[in-house]
Amino acid sequence: MALLIKKSCINCDMCEPECPNQAISMEDEIYQIDPARCTECVGHYDEPTCMKVCPIDNTIIHDPEHRETNEELWDKFVLLHHADKL
Ligand code: SF4
Ligand code: SF4
Repeated sequence: MALLIKKSCINCDMCEPECPNQAISMEDEIYQIDPARCTECVGHYDEPTCMKVCPIDNTIIHDPEHRETNEELWDKFVLLHHADKL
């Protein structure tokens, strides 16, 4: 499933440049994750890199509104990065 940034975000700017899918962007007050671009880092890393770099515990969480299987996350990765080869 895609990830979600909670209001406890302190806008430290750590996660945005680390996302391999350009899924993180600054919105009105805090950073947000675009569920259409978040693959949980499948295809790039073994674990979500934004969660790893975030200094505030439990600020980046799994979004219960965007549940996806591992296969669906892989499909999203392929569409984002290799659509020209499909
Ligand atoms: S889990 Fe990975 S793809 Fe999703 S927002 Fe975080 S860094 Fe980006
Ligand atoms: S790393 Fe965490 S605290 Fe920093 S901008 Fe990203 S979500 Fe917010």
